[in-house]
Amino acid sequence: MTRSITILGATGSIGASTLDLIGRSPEQWRVEALTANSSAKELAVLAREFGAKLAVVADEAHLPALRQALAGSDIEAAGGPAALVEAAARPVDITVAAIVGCAGLAPVMAAVKRGGTIALANKEALVSAGNVLTTAVSKHGAALLPTDSEHNAIFQCLAANSLDDVAKITLTASGGPFRTWTSQAIAKATPEQAVAHPNWSMGAKISVDSATLMNKGLELIEAHHLFPIGLDKFDIVVHPQSVIHSMVEFRDRSTLAQLGPSDMRVPIASCLAWPQRMDTPLEPLNLAKIGELTFEAPNEELFPATRICRAAIAEGGGAPAVLNAANEVAVAAFLAGQIGFTRITALVEEVLSRYGANEPGSLDDVLSLDADARQSTTEFLETPACV
Ligand code: NDP
Repeated sequence: MTRSITILGATGSIGASTLDLIGRSPEQWRVEALTANSSAKELAVLAREFGAKLAVVADEAHLPALRQALAGSDIEAAGGPAALVEAAARPVDITVAAIVGCAGLAPVMAAVKRGGTIALANKEALVSAGNVLTTAVSKHGAALLPTDSEHNAIFQCLAANSLDDVAKITLTASGGPFRTWTSQAIAKATPEQAVAHPNWSMGAKISVDSATLMNKGLELIEAHHLFPIGLDKFDIVVHPQSVIHSMVEFRDRSTLAQLGPSDMRVPIASCLAWPQRMDTPLEPLNLAKIGELTFEAPNEELFPATRICRAAIAEGGGAPAVLNAANEVAVAAFLAGQIGFTRITALVEEVLSRYGANEPGSLDDVLSLDADARQSTTEFLETPACV
C-alpha cells in the first residue's frame, strides 16, 4: 500500500535519514512536499529524485533559484512562511517535522490542525508551545509520534502500559564531546570542537546543544509534555556509549529500556512504520563487541543547562519559550564566533531572569513571545558586558 509523506526540513540531517529510509522502498511512498529554508538547489535535487509534488523554501529570497532548479519538471515551487504552512496543511498520511528551531512551530501546528500524524523531531516547537501544542493535538485528533531517540525509546517502552503505573522515566545523555574536559578547556571550546559529537551525526544547532547539555534540558521539557507524569519523576543519566536510548521504571520496579545503534534511522523507522515495524539497513546491535555500558550522574556545575531547563518547567508560564528563543540566538552567536562556549547557557539564564512572561494561550502568543525574547537576547548580546 502506498503512503503519502511530507518532510519539513528535508535538506537537514533528519530529512536525509528519512529520505534514505523511504528511498529503499520507493514503491511504498508518495512524496507530497519537501521543504527547506534556503538550500534551493539541494531541495530541487531531492524533489526530482523523490518525485515530490511540491518543493518549498521558507526564505522567499531563494524561490527564484528553486524555480530555476526545477525548470522543466512538473514539480510546483513555492516560497515564504505562508507557503511553508500551506505545504504542512496538505493532507498526507505522515508528516516528518524536521525543521530546526521554533521556525518549525507554525507548520507543525498546521499539520496538527488538520488532524495529521506527525513524526516530531523538531523539539523546539514543543518546548516553545508546550500546552498550546498538546491542547491542539487533542482538540484536532492529531497524533504526535516522538522521533527524538530518547522520546521514541520511552514511547516504545510505554506501549500497552499506563502512565499511572510509571514510577520514573530516565533520559539517557551521551554527555557530549566535552564530558571529560576541564572547565578551563571547555571555556575555550571552538564551534568545530562543539559540533564534533562523539556518537551522533547531526545538524550544527543540536550538536552545540548536545555539547552544552541544553539538548538534554530541552528533551526534559519535551518529555514533560509528551509523558505527563510530573517533573519529579524524570531523571537524567549520562551514558557515554549511547546504546540505551532511555528507560521507564514501573511501580513494580520493572525497568524497560530501548537499545539500538546511535543512528536516527532507527527512531525514524519506528515512526514511519508505527504501529508496525520496517527494515533498516543497520547492523544488528553487538553487545559483546560493545562490551561495557556505563552510567554516571550529570555534572550540573560544568553543564548547568539541565538545571536551568528544570527550573524553567517549574516556573511555567512563558519561561520555556523564552529559554528556547534565548538559546537559539546564543547558539547562533557562538557558531558565528561572537561569544564563547560557556556564555551560551549563561546568556540563557540571564535572559530568563529578566522575563516573567505569562503562559502563552495561542500560537500567535507563542510566536510573539519567541520574537520578543529573540530581540531581547540579541540586544543583550550587543552589550559589552555580554562577551
Ligand atoms: P539541520 O540543521 O541538519 O536541518 C534543519 C532543516 O531545517 C533544514 O532542512 C533547513 O533548511 C531547515 N530550516 C532551517 N531553518 C529554517 C527556517 N527558519 N524555516 C524553515 N526551515 C528551516 O537540523 P537537524 O536535522 O539536525 O535537526 C532538525 C530537528 O530535529 C531539530 O529540532 C533537532 O533538535 C531535531 N533532532 C535532530 C536529531 C539529529 O540527529 N539530527 C536527533 C533528534 C532530534 P536549509 O538546509 O535550507 O537550511
